[in-house]
Amino acid sequence: MTTVKAYGSTAPENALEPLDIKRRDVGETDVKIDILYCGVCHSDIHTARNEWGGAKYPVVPGHEIIGRVVTVGDDVANFKVGDLVGVGCMVDSCQTCNSCKNDLEQFCENGATFTYGSADQHIKGQQTYGGYSTMVVVDKEFVLRVPENIDPAGAAPLLCAGITTWSPLRHWNVKKGDKVGVIGLGGLGHMGVKFAHALGAEVVMITTSPEKGNDAKALGADDVLISTDQEDMAKHAASFDFILNTIPVGHKMDPYIQLLKIDATMVIVGAVEPLEPFHGGGLIMGRKRVAGSLIGGIKETQEMLDFCGEHNIVSDIEMINMQDINTAYDRVVKSDVKYRFVIDMKSLK
Ligand code: NAP
Ligand code: ZN
Repeated sequence: MTTVKAYGSTAPENALEPLDIKRRDVGETDVKIDILYCGVCHSDIHTARNEWGGAKYPVVPGHEIIGRVVTVGDDVANFKVGDLVGVGCMVDSCQTCNSCKNDLEQFCENGATFTYGSADQHIKGQQTYGGYSTMVVVDKEFVLRVPENIDPAGAAPLLCAGITTWSPLRHWNVKKGDKVGVIGLGGLGHMGVKFAHALGAEVVMITTSPEKGNDAKALGADDVLISTDQEDMAKHAASFDFILNTIPVGHKMDPYIQLLKIDATMVIVGAVEPLEPFHGGGLIMGRKRVAGSLIGGIKETQEMLDFCGEHNIVSDIEMINMQDINTAYDRVVKSDVKYRFVIDMKSLK
């Protein structure tokens, strides 16, 4: 085992601080990655602060990892030393259940091993530690190939914010001409806008922050809808084919449901907590649907990365040093980030 530098939190109310963690030796199917960049997802904050319950400390967050391969195991044929690679939200799954066989490892029937906070499948009694660290060892099945033509720092958020927005847009078959709403211009939302635009949709940014309007248009939105403006909301009533909802907390659903057309779907990806009760009539009158989505499988994540390579899509980032993480967390909670923080891991080395 190797001891590496990391940042993590030791209790819900504590700031993140420097920690030492252990990484396993490289096994036959493992890839050892020198971490260059790691994105800061709102889920990192929810977990570090135990807002979803069940967090085990220390929590070392980080599931938007970009790095270079430094060692590969004897049974690894598809990666070599020097490759630019990514690791997202998962590092293991059973690989044999129906979900895994159908490229839906995130729904592994035996429980996927998430990049941080899951029981480590290789180090007994230890939990997994994420990308706020200098190095990680990951099974080859969970390592993604990152196109060399895109900016590697901007690519980091693709590993979670990217796939989490790409997957529902693809699953619900968003296509040219559809009117698509993206609620919340944060890390996920700004990727949702870029992808929906690249897929040919007419994109409307639905935001509580009027000052983000110009940015939304620069990211690819055709129109901006201020969700707190009743008149504006009424103007867009019953007009959307699809809505991607990235609001990170429980909220009122009815105002957004009334934006959907007949048979249209709103997909919740943000609120992993109780939503406020909503009126059944809002769904019944129009055969509307509310659904959910969790990241995406490994195959789909690779497809998304390849698409980003072809279309030159990366995240808009603010680069920070590891030591600035606590200020960054406070800013994310205040919806004050354009539009994803990415940690330059040089600062920890
Ligand atoms: P983020 O950067 O904080 O963005 C969330 C955006 O939502 C904010 O920028 C803000 O946009 C809007 N918002 C915040 N509070 C709101 C409220 N009370 N009412 C209405 N809008 C509000 O967060 P993120 O990293 O994109 O993550 C979003 C959520 O998705 C988090 O809860 C995260 O844990 C979750 N997540 C889920 C998955 C999954 O697989 N399902 C994967 C990754 C993350 P405006 O200023 O434009 O209103
Ligand atoms: Zn995430």
